[in-house]
Amino acid sequence: MNDAVANPLLDFSGMPRFADIKPAHVEPAIRGLIDENRALIERLTADPTTPTWDGFVSPMDEAGERLGRAWGVVGHLHSVFDVPEWRETYNAMLPEISRFYAEVGQNLALFQKYKALHDSPEFATLSPVRQRILEHALRDFRLSGAELPDDQKPRFQEIQEEQSQLAAKFSENLLDATNAHAEWIADEAGLAGIPDDARQAARAAAEAEGKEGWKFTLQMPSYLPVLQYADDRELRARMYRAYATRASELGKPELDNGPLIGRILALRDEEARMLGYRNFAEVSLVPKMADTPEQVLGFLHDLAAKAKPFAEKDLEELKAFARAELGLDTLEPWDVAYASEKLRQARYAYSDQEVKQYFPEPKVLDGLFGVIRALYRVDILPDAAPTWDPDVRFFRIEKEGELVGHFYLDLHARSTKRGGAWMDSARSRHRNTWGSDTPVAYLVCNFPGPVGGKPATFTHDDVLTLFHECGHGLHHLLTQVDELAVSGIHGVEWDAVELPSQFMENFCWEWDVLQGMTAHVDTGAPLPRALYDKMIAAKNFQSGMQTVRQLEFSMFDLRLHSELDASAGPVPIERVMTLLDEVRREVAVMIPPAWHRFPHSFSHIFAGGYAAGYYSYKWAEVLSADAFEAFEEAGAGKGSLLDPETGERFWREILAVGGSRPALESFKAFRGREPRVDALLRHSGMVAQA
Ligand SMILES: [Zn+2]
Repeated sequence: MNDAVANPLLDFSGMPRFADIKPAHVEPAIRGLIDENRALIERLTADPTTPTWDGFVSPMDEAGERLGRAWGVVGHLHSVFDVPEWRETYNAMLPEISRFYAEVGQNLALFQKYKALHDSPEFATLSPVRQRILEHALRDFRLSGAELPDDQKPRFQEIQEEQSQLAAKFSENLLDATNAHAEWIADEAGLAGIPDDARQAARAAAEAEGKEGWKFTLQMPSYLPVLQYADDRELRARMYRAYATRASELGKPELDNGPLIGRILALRDEEARMLGYRNFAEVSLVPKMADTPEQVLGFLHDLAAKAKPFAEKDLEELKAFARAELGLDTLEPWDVAYASEKLRQARYAYSDQEVKQYFPEPKVLDGLFGVIRALYRVDILPDAAPTWDPDVRFFRIEKEGELVGHFYLDLHARSTKRGGAWMDSARSRHRNTWGSDTPVAYLVCNFPGPVGGKPATFTHDDVLTLFHECGHGLHHLLTQVDELAVSGIHGVEWDAVELPSQFMENFCWEWDVLQGMTAHVDTGAPLPRALYDKMIAAKNFQSGMQTVRQLEFSMFDLRLHSELDASAGPVPIERVMTLLDEVRREVAVMIPPAWHRFPHSFSHIFAGGYAAGYYSYKWAEVLSADAFEAFEEAGAGKGSLLDPETGERFWREILAVGGSRPALESFKAFRGREPRVDALLRHSGMVAQA
C-alpha cells in the first residue's frame, strides 16, 4: 500500500503539497486517518497490560498528529482559499471530524489508560515535562466529568447541554433585541455632525425598506457614529438608552436575558460543585495561569487603585472641555463618546493616510526581520515550497547555519481569504519514533496589496497586527521542546498565550525601531518626530478611563462567578445588578444610569468562552509590558533596547519552553521576580507626576 504517493494529503515527509492537493483527496485521506485513530484507540484500550509512555502515549500522539496535520491543511485552505469546491469539501467533512474529537474527549476507557500510566511505577521515571503532559490530560478528562460517579454523569451531561442552549439563546436574544430598535430621521437637519459614510449607510437602510429618510440601528457601525458625532443630543440619548437596555426586562419580555443569566449562573455553580470546587471561578482557573479567584481579584484591585486617579483626571479633562467648548454643563453618559471624539480631534488628530506613507511593505518587513535578528541572532532567509497562492512567500529561520523552522507569509487581502489576521501551525516541533520535525507556521494577514507599481503601504495598526502575529509565530517556531503536547504554543495557559504576541507590539511604538522601519514611499525619509509624538499621545488618550472600564468588566465577571451563591437555583437579576453597582462604586468613574442593563449584553461571559476569564486581557497585557520593560532596562545606556542578551534570555525562558512548564515559572525565570503592573501603566501614559 502506498497511500502517501497516491494521496498528497497523506504525504508527511515535507511541507504540505499545496500544488497537488485537490478537494477529492480530502474525504479518503481524512476518513482513513480517523479510522486509523479509532482502530488504534480500540487496540490500546482493549490491551489489559499497564500502559507505558512508548507503548501508549507515543502512538496516540503520532496518530493524532497525522490527522491534525492533514485536517490542518484542509482547514487552512478553507481560510485562505475559500473557493466553492473547497468550502463544500471542508463543510462536508466537518461534522465527522467534530464527532471524532468529541468521542475521544469522552472516551472513559482512554481516560482509564492515562490514569493507569499516571499511577504506574513508570510515572516516577518520566521527565517532568512528560509528567506534566499526563497530568494535563487527566485534568481535561476530569473537567469534562470523566471521574464522576456513574449516577451523576447523566446530570452532568444535562448541565452541559442546557448551558449550550442557554448560551445560544442569550446570543439570539441579544441579536434580536439589537435589531428590534431603529431611529428614523426624516429631516436632514437632524443628521448634523454625522459623517457622510454613516449617513449613506442610514439612507441605504431606509431605502431597502422602501422608505424616505434615514434609518439608524443599534448595530455598531450605525450606532457608534451617532454617539460619537451626532450634534442632536436627544438623538444620542434615545440611542444610548435603547442600546443600554437591550435584551432586558425594559424591552420585549420574550427577549429578556435576565432569567437566562440567573439560570446560567446556577448551572455553572452546580457544575463546579459536582466537580468538587467551591465555585465556577475556581473551575475556570484550573487550566489558567492565575491560581485562585482571590489572586485575580487582588491583581484587579491593585491595577484599579493605580489607574483610577488617571481615569478621574481623564474625566475631569473631558468635563472641562465639554463645558468650555461644547456648552455641555453636565456631561451625561450619552455625551461621553461625542465629547471624547471632539477632544481627541482638537488635541491629537493626525491622519492615518499621512502615517501610512512612511510604512511601505518592504521597509516594514526589513524592520520586523531586523528586530528578530537583533534579538535572537537568527537568520531569516527566503526559501521555496509549494503555496496556495503566487502572492505567498516562504522563509526559513536558521541559527548559526542550523535550521530552526519555516514560515509562510501571506500578507495581502484576497476575495478568497477570510478576514482578520492569525498565526496557525502547519507542523509543530517534536521528536517521534522516526526522527524530528522542525516547526512550520502560517502567518496570515489582510493588508492592502501593492497598487500602480508602488509597494503596498501599511497603517500603523497593520504594522502592530503584523508584529502581534509574528510574536505568536516566534512562540511556535523558536520552541525547543520535543513533546508535541507542549511544544510551541501547545499547552500554554490561556491567560498567558498572548504574552509573546503583545510583547512584539511594543517595538512598533519605539522611536529607534521606527526609525529603521520607516521610509516615506516617495521621499524615503523616516517617520518625523512630530508625527511620532502625536501617535503616542493618541495611543494614550483616555487610557485611564479605558483601563477602569476593562477592570470593571473583569471584576464583575470574576465576583459573579465566585461570590454569588447560586446553590439555591436561578440567581435573581437584582442580585446581579447589585453586585455590578458595588464593583462600579469601587472602580468606575462614570456611573451609568440606574436603568442601564450591561449584564444583559455581556456576551463574552454568558455566550462566549470568557466566563471568569475576562481578566485575561489585562493579565496578558501586564505580562507582556513587564517583559518588554526588561528590554528597556537593558537598553538604557546602550542606545538600543534590541539587546541580544535579554533576547537570548526571553527565548530561553519564555519562547523555548512553550507549555512545558507553568507560565508563571517561565515569567519569573525571565524577569527574576513576579509580574508587576507598573510597566503597563507607564506604557499607557499613566505615570504619577513627581
Ligand atoms: Zn493574539
